[in-house]
Amino acid sequence: MDLKLRKVRVMVKKGSEYCIFCGVQVFKDGEYVSFPETFTAYQFLQAGDKACGRCAGMFRDPKFRRNCWLVKVSVFTVLLSPLSALFELPEPPFLLYFTRQKRKHGWILAVQNPVLSLDKFILVVDEDKILFEHKKFEEFLAFSRDLLNRGVPKGVLLGGMPNPSSLRKYGLSWPEAVRLRDLQREPLWRVCVDFERRS
Ligand SMILES: [Zn+2]
Repeated sequence: MDLKLRKVRVMVKKGSEYCIFCGVQVFKDGEYVSFPETFTAYQFLQAGDKACGRCAGMFRDPKFRRNCWLVKVSVFTVLLSPLSALFELPEPPFLLYFTRQKRKHGWILAVQNPVLSLDKFILVVDEDKILFEHKKFEEFLAFSRDLLNRGVPKGVLLGGMPNPSSLRKYGLSWPEAVRLRDLQREPLWRVCVDFERRS
């Protein structure tokens, strides 16, 4: 047993039998999880000292950190085209996780925030929880694709108000520039641009 594991177990209240990742009751079937030194996402853990079988498996298997994925009724699917996947989601409930950095433990937030409605849900991207609203997503994606098709680089899409030389260079209208300024603070806008394959 390594030191980190010992530390976690000491913090635990006696008799708490809930999965430290998703919070489901595990009774006596839970598994102890040993945390490597590289694990820093303790703030995402819930009170308890064991994990349910599903989460213990997810913790051990790096595919849940390295991919964008969907899990429905324990069927794991890698999302090679995450933005398209958002148009083809199955009936809830299911788990959904997006990653750019491919190393963080945001999947823990994904198991804590299952998708229960397709119109509005918490989309977990790395370690951020983003409010996904389908209508907003469609509008943002249409705007982002229009600009990318016109040759506007992603950096300009995410940079807020474009400078005058960008406006001229990419033929951006004033309303488009103002919209880019307003979208800079929209996490869902960043998702639409970041997960687009074109660079
Ligand atoms: Zn669990």
